[in-house]
Amino acid sequence: MTFLSPPIQRINSVIAYRAGVELSVLRLDCMHLWVNGNKWFKLKYNLLEAEEKNYTTLLTFGGAYSNHIYATAAAANLFGFRTIGVIRGDEKLPLNSTLSFAVQQGMQLVYIDRKTYRERNTTDLQQDLQQRFGEVFIIPEGGSNLNGVLGCTDIVKEFTAFDTVCLACGTGTTLAGIALSLDKNQQVLGFPVLKNGDFLAQEIEQMVTNYLTSSLPIPSNSAPSWKLLCNYHFGGYAKVNEKLITFSRQFTQEHCIPLDYVYTAKMFYGVMDLLQQGFFPRGDRLLLIHTGGLQGNLGIEQRLQKL
Ligand SMILES: *Cc1c(COP(=O)(O)O)cnc(C)c1O
Repeated sequence: MTFLSPPIQRINSVIAYRAGVELSVLRLDCMHLWVNGNKWFKLKYNLLEAEEKNYTTLLTFGGAYSNHIYATAAAANLFGFRTIGVIRGDEKLPLNSTLSFAVQQGMQLVYIDRKTYRERNTTDLQQDLQQRFGEVFIIPEGGSNLNGVLGCTDIVKEFTAFDTVCLACGTGTTLAGIALSLDKNQQVLGFPVLKNGDFLAQEIEQMVTNYLTSSLPIPSNSAPSWKLLCNYHFGGYAKVNEKLITFSRQFTQEHCIPLDYVYTAKMFYGVMDLLQQGFFPRGDRLLLIHTGGLQGNLGIEQRLQKL
């Protein structure tokens, strides 16, 4: 499975210059046209395990605009798997851009109501699905299992010249993988995109513990060091406002980096805000992870046009 290694882009910004901080962006959005971002890293070892175990069909879960559904459909198609996407809620026609892409990539879509969807990680529902669709390799929503954490330990592996990694968090799986791969003097700052993101701390703690007590390779021998900054959710998941949109468009114009509104725009906004508050020590070298997700902007732009 060969993809482009993600480029690192240095950002020249007056705000960072004044704060005495170095800013670089790891462009996971530039690895492959369709299969990119952190979702690829979370899928990688799941696909390898499915292949090793001779599965021909993958089944996974997601919302109607899910980056994970999009990436899974494309990756499965590239590597020759059939895929079933279990989508939360009712079918809406015409299909939105995410789901029509998934179908083009050969994914079969199945809709389940929101209440049943909440059971997605239970053995009961998974057994039902196995009975309905035969032998399928089940990948959890977002690719958020230990294979997903393992994949994310590869994200910053090749890079050393930074002190602090910043990234947006949904489930925190990506943060857990990165934290597990860092050296002693490095740390990760996570920016939850959900409201009241504090609850994530416990879940990340649990994921890290589960990982460390599994038989998976441990890439670093230092204790993972991470922290969450929970004030940049902009009202919650996929919520946006004028300030965020203006920031995101200006940032893209200035630095030639497109941002997605659901995740990366909120993190970049947070970092710029913290720089202005003098949050980072002078001389700090920040590595901001662009986790991809640009496909989701189409849906958001359409929603904004209707306002
Ligand atoms: C899914 C996603 C995230 C969140 O990743 P987690 O591992 O769930 O924290 C961040 N950014 C983008 C673009 C995503 O698609």
